[in-house]
Amino acid sequence: MAAGHCLCGAVSFETSGTPRFVANCHCENCRRATGAAFSTWVGFTDDQINWTGARATYASSEGVARGFCKECGTPLSYQGAKWDGETHILIGAFDQPEQFTPKADVFAEEALAFCKPPIAS
Ligand SMILES: [Zn+2]
Ligand SMILES: [Zn+2]
Repeated sequence: MAAGHCLCGAVSFETSGTPRFVANCHCENCRRATGAAFSTWVGFTDDQINWTGARATYASSEGVARGFCKECGTPLSYQGAKWDGETHILIGAFDQPEQFTPKADVFAEEALAFCKPPIAS
């Protein structure tokens, strides 16, 4: 089990079991949505996650719902039609992010020069 929360604590979550994947995403959409140079996502099936509190979502592009805290704005999650039944959570929202290790870099062609893949081990 792993737990996490947004910066202000209004949204929290618990996950169960092993994530389907842990990957660094270098795409421009994630970069803009998070404000970070790249984003590390921990992917679960929806039924592995229990959300509590004020999470909201917006459609960042067709078929994509990005979740965030309504109170503090922390970016938290990604759900895409391409990955039906999955929710991907940003690693920085976990209480113990180091329990996960990224195994892949995706959208490497969009990576910024100073964080060129491979970053994942
Ligand atoms: Zn918050
Ligand atoms: Zn991305």
